[in-house]
Amino acid sequence: MKRAEDLDVAGRTVLVRADLNVPMDGGAITDDGRIRASLPTIRDLLGREAAVIVCAHLGRPKGDDYAARAAGGPSLRPVADRLAELLGQPVTLAADVAGESARVIASTMAAGEVALLENVRFEPAETSKDDDVRGELAGRLAALADVYVGDGFGAMHRKHASVYDTPLLLPHAAGQLVLAEVGVLRQLTSSPARPYVVVLGGAKVSDKLAVVGNLVGLGRGGGVRASIADRLLIAGGMAYTFLAAQGHQVGDSILQAEQIPQVTAALADADKAGVEVVLPVDHVVADRFAADAEPEVVHGPDIPDGKMGLDIGPATRQLFARKLGDAKTVFWNGPPGVFEFPAFAAGTLAVAEAISHVTGLTVVGGGDSAAAVRHLNLPADAFTHISTGGGASLEYLEGRELPGLAALEAET
Ligand code: ADP
Ligand code: MG
Repeated sequence: MKRAEDLDVAGRTVLVRADLNVPMDGGAITDDGRIRASLPTIRDLLGREAAVIVCAHLGRPKGDDYAARAAGGPSLRPVADRLAELLGQPVTLAADVAGESARVIASTMAAGEVALLENVRFEPAETSKDDDVRGELAGRLAALADVYVGDGFGAMHRKHASVYDTPLLLPHAAGQLVLAEVGVLRQLTSSPARPYVVVLGGAKVSDKLAVVGNLVGLGRGGGVRASIADRLLIAGGMAYTFLAAQGHQVGDSILQAEQIPQVTAALADADKAGVEVVLPVDHVVADRFAADAEPEVVHGPDIPDGKMGLDIGPATRQLFARKLGDAKTVFWNGPPGVFEFPAFAAGTLAVAEAISHVTGLTVVGGGDSAAAVRHLNLPADAFTHISTGGGASLEYLEGRELPGLAALEAET
């Protein structure tokens, strides 16, 4: 993969596909980690006399056509303002994605200037399954610039117009963030120092089953061992489907009953591959899903009817810390509890702390996990790497090809 730093960009206009999909509360950005992570590449290009046009998406605009989506939002306006603050220079926000406004800005901007296109998902073509429909948008995006730099790691697993089709139309290279992310993930999948311990949490087991399968060597007949974990600690909402598969009561906790057969198969594969699977042994429960719900500790793995598990209990926190104690490599994706509610955040804090004590490669992946960690005020070097891409890092660990990376690797 070509590096953006090796491209000759002086006097040229560079289209940077970044991942600026930050969590928002109303109009306010609640965690600007992804904007910060995009700065090194943008600064490098500006410092080398390029004009930089940034393309990004935000949220999931709704509506059948451009007009409906643009009217409904979300606009990248707050992101443009934050990016300008962090860069210390103005950022012009185009009124559209690749229309008249973008064209005028692109043709009049000078070296060292930055513009941001409006939310690329206002264009229904961005996410279209039809190659020609995506290709038309890619053509308009490519016409804005001389060079393409892919730096939006969090969107690399999407075969979208701005991620996959546009780089194929221009000289292209990978930005610093993408290169850093791929470098770390490659270490996890090629030769992790052992014990390699993986902690998985989050809400839904269906999101994470494919990665569980890869980590326990599912369907591989035990052939490729490189990416197989030694230990899998499972918590968060997904743990209840695992507990149910083992015959435990889960009360009103979130359960994906239709996934029980796959979970049972994954547990059998883990057993065969010698992967230790560790599930919660106690819980913090409540009678409803709310920040002000009364927390109550349930000792033991079973949860009575009328109660839902919202965090791992104190014994599980200790057990997980012990299981992380001798780790040489850790990957963590998905909070082990509903950390957004302070009364149910202790499990997430405990896991973060336990991982921060590990000496070796420690990687946090996942938008919510990364946001949770940044709010905990742990020292900056508590983890080796906090990935900006949840879905993208999971798909990489599943062993799948990421369309955005494949496009950046293609020769032009
Ligand atoms: P990431 O973005 O890090 O990949 P996910 O999106 O998979 O993580 O999951 C994050 C969500 O999982 C959080 O909003 C958290 O509240 C939720 N979650 C964690 N534990 C539970 C639980 N026991 N019940 C319901 N939701 C949970
Ligand atoms: Mg998430």
